[in-house]
Amino acid sequence: MPNCKQCSTGFEILKEDRALLSKLNMPDPTMCFTCRLKWRLAFYNRRKLYRRKCDLTGENIVSVISPDKPFKVYNVSDWFSDKWDPMEYGRDFDFNRPFFEQINELIQAVPHIALSLMGDNINSDFTNDNYKLKNCYLVFDGERAEDTYYGETFFDLRNCMEFLFLYQSELCYECTGCNNCFNLKYSSFCTSSSDSWFLRDCIGCKNCFGCANLHQKEYHIFNKPHTKEEYEKFMADFQSGHYGAIQEMKKKVREFHLTQPVKATRGVQNVDSHGDNLSNSQNSYYCFDSNDLKDCRYCTNCLLASFDSMDVHVWGDKMERCYNCSAVGAGATNVFMSSYCGVGVSDIYYSYWCTRNCTNCFGSAGLKHKKYCVLNKQYSKEEYEKLVPRIIEHMKKTGEWGEFFPPNISPFGYNETLAQDHFPLKKAEAFEQGYKWSDFEPELQAVKTIPAERLPDDIKDVPDDILNWAIVGEVTEKPYKIVAQELKFYREQNLPIPHRHPDQRHWDRIKIKNPYMIWNRNCAKCQKDIETSYSPDRPEVVYCEQCYLKEVY
Ligand SMILES: [Zn+2]
Ligand SMILES: [Zn+2]
Repeated sequence: MPNCKQCSTGFEILKEDRALLSKLNMPDPTMCFTCRLKWRLAFYNRRKLYRRKCDLTGENIVSVISPDKPFKVYNVSDWFSDKWDPMEYGRDFDFNRPFFEQINELIQAVPHIALSLMGDNINSDFTNDNYKLKNCYLVFDGERAEDTYYGETFFDLRNCMEFLFLYQSELCYECTGCNNCFNLKYSSFCTSSSDSWFLRDCIGCKNCFGCANLHQKEYHIFNKPHTKEEYEKFMADFQSGHYGAIQEMKKKVREFHLTQPVKATRGVQNVDSHGDNLSNSQNSYYCFDSNDLKDCRYCTNCLLASFDSMDVHVWGDKMERCYNCSAVGAGATNVFMSSYCGVGVSDIYYSYWCTRNCTNCFGSAGLKHKKYCVLNKQYSKEEYEKLVPRIIEHMKKTGEWGEFFPPNISPFGYNETLAQDHFPLKKAEAFEQGYKWSDFEPELQAVKTIPAERLPDDIKDVPDDILNWAIVGEVTEKPYKIVAQELKFYREQNLPIPHRHPDQRHWDRIKIKNPYMIWNRNCAKCQKDIETSYSPDRPEVVYCEQCYLKEVY
């Protein structure tokens, strides 16, 4: 068993891992799954947005690159235009220096795209990694949404707020892992449910409150049936607009839900597959938050069909034979150790932001429609095919071959990236593990600052003037503001003002979803060995699939 070169713990390389690696012509990994994932996540800023200037036009823009960084940043449409040429930054490969030093210099020099957008967003400046949005704010990784705020990973939403993994839904608030829901509040892992509050793992429920594991039920409160009149009386007494009442109810719901079993891992229609929140997948191992995978291993957040891929975080969409990448997809084939390469790209190695049908590119950045490039320099097919194997040999000697871009060349501080969302570190810990850190904080314009605990308890007592206040929240002391559309939503839906910073709210939702990890436990009912995303020290009652289904149906 080799030891992880990053955290020193022993990790297993299974014979099935080796079979896929050899199909991809890649060496054994030198790090454990978690460290490999952390490196990829540390290269990926999705949610930290900054106001800055476009270095091409001088206009004010929003970008994932903070204004204190040394890179040039171009606004999205100009970055994709022919107003500049990434090949001007081309350079020779130097066999006397490590590869990562050279790709780092290139990534520093080539202008960065301000945001990852596919175009077509209306009135949705503060968003990233998505398309076809209208009137959205601080939403990330999704498509087709209207009047939707504060959330990550979604499609087809209207009027939703505060969510993680939410699909085809309307008027939902504080929902995680829900699909096809309407007017659902403070709920998780529900499907086709409506007009309900505080549900977990419910399907087809309506007018229910605080329930878990119910199917096709109406007028249930904490899993007990009631008459319509009783339910309406209960709802009339529940002061949903009061912060205190919501906090008290959250506690009560948490205690009740802990008495109701959970399934070892969530997911449907998997064949010979292993992981959590995985659906419609075949022969896939240690994969999370993904669907439609076939013969994939250690993939996270890959959606819409991926084949023969390993160690990829995010995207998919007909991705094939990709390894050790973040944000690759849309027909990406044979893409290795790269970040943000997609849309018809193939045979790409160690590249950053190479898109739109690039093929046969090695160590390149910011290219579109290019072929046979190394460090953004053009070669003939014959030259390219001679040079690349020599570079690979060089990288084998330097110990770089097969490794993802190391964290010391990431354009971002650890705390700006998805790594901080899933594996939070303090500044000193991040440095100790070789990551960067960003101390840049944009200034918040506000007429006064108010601690969250001094906010009016009832939404009805919140004045319009709150839009000018900076609120200092619980947990993180970073101040935040309420935006006008958000206040309108709380008032219409009779919900209190949140007492936590949007980042903290996001991290709270990530905790509702289990971590990227599988543990061995015993089924709480039949005692058989199970593999589960609930660690053994957690208080949930964890059932094997058979026991869970017997209990619930
Ligand atoms: Zn490790
Ligand atoms: Zn069991």
